[in-house]
Amino acid sequence: MRIVLVGPPGAGKGTQAAYLAKNLQIPHISTGDLFRANISQGTPLGVQAKSYMDAGNLVPDEVTIGMAEDRLEQSDAAGGFLLDGFPRNLKQAEALDGYLKGKGIALDAVLDLEVPEDEVVKRIAGRRICRKNSAHVFHAEYSKPKTEGVCDVCGGELYQRDDDHEDTVRKRLEVYHSETEPIIDYYKDQELVVTIPALGKVDEVTQRSMTALGRGA
Ligand code: AMP
Repeated sequence: MRIVLVGPPGAGKGTQAAYLAKNLQIPHISTGDLFRANISQGTPLGVQAKSYMDAGNLVPDEVTIGMAEDRLEQSDAAGGFLLDGFPRNLKQAEALDGYLKGKGIALDAVLDLEVPEDEVVKRIAGRRICRKNSAHVFHAEYSKPKTEGVCDVCGGELYQRDDDHEDTVRKRLEVYHSETEPIIDYYKDQELVVTIPALGKVDEVTQRSMTALGRGA
């Protein structure tokens, strides 16, 4: 399957993407994770991306589209993929369509994770992520690790993303409304959008998504 996951920051895209990709046996491709990997390796792409990310803005399309297409070219994505955080504006959505058309393939579904805005802000402000595996996500209030600062799953260090501080979160939400939301209508015109209420337990949201994809238990 070829799937795009959209939703505001804090909707749980990364967490859901990791479970869905595992269940569907397709690679989880997160442009945010690709940028963060470049930042921690100190690559020129990482240096360029960091200033945009820290300000809560989108990294320019020229950089992002090329990086996403390079990743899609890798052999593990030939049979399907789950895109998390890409596309994030109309230009990227059109570029992705053009890329897929060139290969004679198309998306199967766009999952739109829906969460009320006040919930999003609460979720992000307390979010703590494992340095070793970004799918291991905790919360300073709602989902505390057994030992503060340590991942229960793998022992990795937990940290707060630079762009998870309150001012940046507000900016990211603004950017989501103005730049990313229009792609939902774009994909609705292609009859690809499935809206998933994303409140509740993680595994319930995963089940809802699997059912919506016709792969429910
Ligand atoms: P995420 O991990 O998906 O929340 O992404 C974190 C940050 O990476 C975003 O706030 C953007 O600054 C940048 N980013 C990730 N994906 C994209 C994209 N498709 N286009 C532009 N910027 C992106």
